[in-house]
Amino acid sequence: MVNEDLYPPQRLTVAQRATAAAGLDALLITPSADLRYLTGYPARVTERLTCLVLPVDGEPTLIVPTLERPAAEAAVTKTLRIVDHPDGSDPYPLVAKALGGAGSVRSVGLANRMWAEQVLALRDTLPGVTQRLAGEVTAGLRMRKSPAEVEALACAGAAIDAVHQRMGDWLRPGRTEAEVGADLAQAIRAAGHASADFTIVAAGPNGASPHHDVSDRVIQPGDPVVVDIGGTMPDGYCSDSTRTYVVGDPDKELLGAYEVLQAAQEAAVAAVRPGVTAEAVDAVARGLLTDAGYGEYFLHRTGHGIGLDGHEPPYLVTGNGLPLEPGMTFSVEPGFYIAGRYGARIEDIVACTADGVRRLNTISTDLVIL
Ligand code: ZN
Ligand code: ZN
Repeated sequence: MVNEDLYPPQRLTVAQRATAAAGLDALLITPSADLRYLTGYPARVTERLTCLVLPVDGEPTLIVPTLERPAAEAAVTKTLRIVDHPDGSDPYPLVAKALGGAGSVRSVGLANRMWAEQVLALRDTLPGVTQRLAGEVTAGLRMRKSPAEVEALACAGAAIDAVHQRMGDWLRPGRTEAEVGADLAQAIRAAGHASADFTIVAAGPNGASPHHDVSDRVIQPGDPVVVDIGGTMPDGYCSDSTRTYVVGDPDKELLGAYEVLQAAQEAAVAAVRPGVTAEAVDAVARGLLTDAGYGEYFLHRTGHGIGLDGHEPPYLVTGNGLPLEPGMTFSVEPGFYIAGRYGARIEDIVACTADGVRRLNTISTDLVIL
């Protein structure tokens, strides 16, 4: 049964109102974080159509393949109507029917990551109906987390912190990044995650590539190693945290640069409070790194929202004038990446609160020397 604290059934009503306010007649939501957010159902993404039909007026309907019906019934609130379609039947007329007939809507919002084959089939099923993105409605709802959602993210944060704290068990000279990554994936699950979503272990020059995965590089004594790990908890909420390690004696220049990075991350976190814009938090981190001569090595935005998706709005990036609000949760993750040499990043998830900020990762941001 769905955890109604985390996934309140009245979200569907809230979404219907927001859909009407956006000038849309309905949302059509295929398996995605949006579907889980609205119904609690972590439906699998497959070629068989699963689709929540949410008209602004009228009853919501969850259309599912017949073989998924038991899983859907177990996952959603009892009051949500479920209609199933057996293999070999065309499910798309069920969408039109759930909308009250193909002619009863003029515009629909489609899940942002719906498959193109479904988008086109819906275009045929609902001729003349304008297709827009459901994200116009759902992004705004999902960005403002409930207290239960912030607590779920705090639990995910504690789970990933516990993995970072045991890094000395796995990260040693003579092992490959891939070996360490495999151990980390196991540890991420052992710490309570349902899945390990990524394990970046970037040693030495590989650290200069922010989204390096793992490789067969053998970790050398003195290597700085950027470790960025995250997973999804059984309740659907994600973790994402980066620490930088040095195995052996650190390079003097790295120590100096890391001090600046740590101050930049600290200042950016401290800048978070309601009314401050997303881009202003980015500017704080970037300003400190730029003043110290590392601006050109800070290759990416300062952070991204996190919740049921690992990356979601709000993005802390130049040009995003969105004022922060209590309940917004996002990463603060400045870094520097010096090609051919090394890189470093510090990443914590934080929540904007009524009067400031709460860190959802609570371990030290110091450079860890193993
Ligand atoms: Zn990360
Ligand atoms: Zn991140």
